[in-house]
Amino acid sequence: MEYMYGMLGISPEVEAFGEKIVQDLKERFAKIDQVAEYNQAKVLVAMQKHRVSAECFAGSTGYGYNDQGREVLEEVYAACFHTEAALVRPQITCGTHALAVALSANLLPGDELLSPVGKPYDTLESVIGIRKSPCSLAEYGVQYRQVDLLPDGSFDYDNIAKAINEKTKLITIQRSKGYQMRPTFSVEKIGQLIAFVKKIKPDVICMVDNCYGEFVEMQEPSDVGADMIVGSLIKNPGGGLAPIGGYICGTKACIDRCAYRLSAPGLGQEVGASLDVMRAFYQGFFLAPTVVAGALKGAIFAANLFERLGFAVIPNGTESRHDIIQAVELGTPERLIAFCEGIQAAAPVDSYVKPEPYAMPGYNCDVIMAAGAFVQGSSIELSADGPLRAPYSVYFQGGLTWYHAKVGILRALQEMYAKGLVSLPNV
Ligand SMILES: *Cc1c(COP(=O)(O)O)cnc(C)c1O
Repeated sequence: MEYMYGMLGISPEVEAFGEKIVQDLKERFAKIDQVAEYNQAKVLVAMQKHRVSAECFAGSTGYGYNDQGREVLEEVYAACFHTEAALVRPQITCGTHALAVALSANLLPGDELLSPVGKPYDTLESVIGIRKSPCSLAEYGVQYRQVDLLPDGSFDYDNIAKAINEKTKLITIQRSKGYQMRPTFSVEKIGQLIAFVKKIKPDVICMVDNCYGEFVEMQEPSDVGADMIVGSLIKNPGGGLAPIGGYICGTKACIDRCAYRLSAPGLGQEVGASLDVMRAFYQGFFLAPTVVAGALKGAIFAANLFERLGFAVIPNGTESRHDIIQAVELGTPERLIAFCEGIQAAAPVDSYVKPEPYAMPGYNCDVIMAAGAFVQGSSIELSADGPLRAPYSVYFQGGLTWYHAKVGILRALQEMYAKGLVSLPNV
């Protein structure tokens, strides 16, 4: 191992430190494996129940009428997530698109949208119209309300109750913290919030942005009352193999509307050629529980490793996990850059390029990003990024295998260590 790690640019000291951390995580990892085993069975049962066969991989062209692969895949998703219906398509271009479809399909002029969990993911600001944007929900006369979380990260039930009124049609709950500093919500917590909201207004539609959360727990938000769960196929449920796509799973009433919005009123789910992506969708979904487990181990390994080195990490080393994102406050721009250089150097693709901080739309400072992925922008693959401003936090996620996540994290540490930006404790 020392030889192979040497070939990957990782020194014996860094490798030994990593090993020490791994030794202490055995029990934690065994629990993750248990969840993966359960979720693997869940996917398998859904595939068997709906008789997935080689014909499902054939794909279709043009209108895509009678596309068996597409229809069965949507049944498999619905069965796995315990919903009445599902929309899983390459025509859904990304997670933001899936969320935009789910929202605009189920909200009409005069309706109100409520986020009881604070500000939603950045890209949704334009979708909702929090940031003025052509074609936003606001432009179509959908009002938006938000109730922020309490300072300790819990739900502000009093103000949520006050915010719900006769116009409130849909409630959006983002499971993952994304790039905020609040905690990610467990499925159990989301269930409590949904129950609270439904008690006040039983017919309100509860949608969960499930990005980065799929298969982290044994249950999904659809098991605890969500009417729709929404996500991206180049994150968890694509298993690293889906080259594009998004999903919406939920009640038949909601999904029918989503299908009409995605294609056209009157057409709905009947059209939409699956081209050549079906086998990757099925195979990726099949692999997703183990891929997610690997990414989770990587995140927990990194949390413990950097915590041990004295850095603040979110979530911390021992917290329970509800998504695959890890943040580390590196404190200086030099460390942030070195970290990202290390992640990039450890990638299977584009390992020879050097990431550089760059101005990005929507940020008031330069941002550095490291990704060497088989699928562009895929964040179930090992990737890291961070804005060049205090506290110089790096956010990273993914790893198609635990072993690669481990190499990436050690290589990131190596880069900082070699530049004298961090010292290793005696192990
Ligand atoms: C990634 C993400 C999105 C948007 O997905 P894209 O595929 O990047 O458009 C939305 N919400 C959350 C919480 C996410 O993590």
